[in-house]
Amino acid sequence: MITGATKVLAIFGNPVAHSLSPQLHAGWIADHGIDATYVALEVQRDHARETLRALRRLGLHGANVTVPFKEDARHAADICTEDVTALGVANTLSWRDGGIHAHNTDWSGARAAIDEGAPGWIAEARRVLVIGAGGAARAMAFGLRGPEIVVVNRTREKADEVVHFLASYGAAEARDWSALPAAIADADVIVNASTLGMKGADAIDWPLALAKPGAIVLDAVYAPGGTDLVRKARARGLRTVNGLDMLIHQGALAFEIWFGVKPDTDKARQRLNAILAARA
Ligand code: NAP
Repeated sequence: MITGATKVLAIFGNPVAHSLSPQLHAGWIADHGIDATYVALEVQRDHARETLRALRRLGLHGANVTVPFKEDARHAADICTEDVTALGVANTLSWRDGGIHAHNTDWSGARAAIDEGAPGWIAEARRVLVIGAGGAARAMAFGLRGPEIVVVNRTREKADEVVHFLASYGAAEARDWSALPAAIADADVIVNASTLGMKGADAIDWPLALAKPGAIVLDAVYAPGGTDLVRKARARGLRTVNGLDMLIHQGALAFEIWFGVKPDTDKARQRLNAILAARA
């Protein structure tokens, strides 16, 4: 029941109606018997920064911020964690001591998802291939830093920009889109951080037959029953980690920031899979 004391949290984005974050957090709020509610709010694109800054006066307990406002979220905050400063974007805001703190759980969520889905991967992996060069690619490459990172993107200049950013954190190299087959053959971890596969109809024709037998495929995109890429990777016997796991882990890290408890990621997976299946 919502009362006068109920804590309010929200996700800000545009569009945002498709987001699974309200269901994700509502499940955990109920699991922990917390007096809180979490809603999705579509912010007008032209007024994002002033809207986010005005949140200071609204008494929210916490927020997530999604595309296209992650940069605005960083600017709206009074205090940024070191990773937010490095990445230049935030996806989680918390209110402490009257000020807004910005966090980024996208990269740590991707890292947690692969750590859970392919334990020990970091000791074995020498090269991570990141396909795409948008916000997700940057966060995922940062999260999987350690092995050499190879970035392949349709628009080469954007891959160069991501590599320039990554250079302070270790070996990184950009390659042309035409070099994708060779990059797949070379990689221990293959990350889809592009929007390809978002629509059910999007088939991905990357030559997974060239992948190393023990390669891991991590897809930022999610779909009921797994994306086309995840299904093809599984059919080839490759290990897979899907975008739903990333979403759940970034959400779990945000929940812990807001409420100081680690929520149950397995329960969340069951609940969100059921929601996705019903939407299919
Ligand atoms: P973005 O900034 O718009 O970047 C899109 C990327 O996809 C660009 O690199 C773009 O290449 C590439 N791309 C688009 N269409 C393509 C095509 N037909 N062929 C080849 N490449 C194409 O998007 P983003 O924010 O990084 O998000 C990327 C994906 O990650 C989205 O599907 C998003 O939903 C997902 N995501 C998932 C999570 C999660 O928790 N699971 C979190 C964040 C994002 P160009 O540079 O050439 O345009």
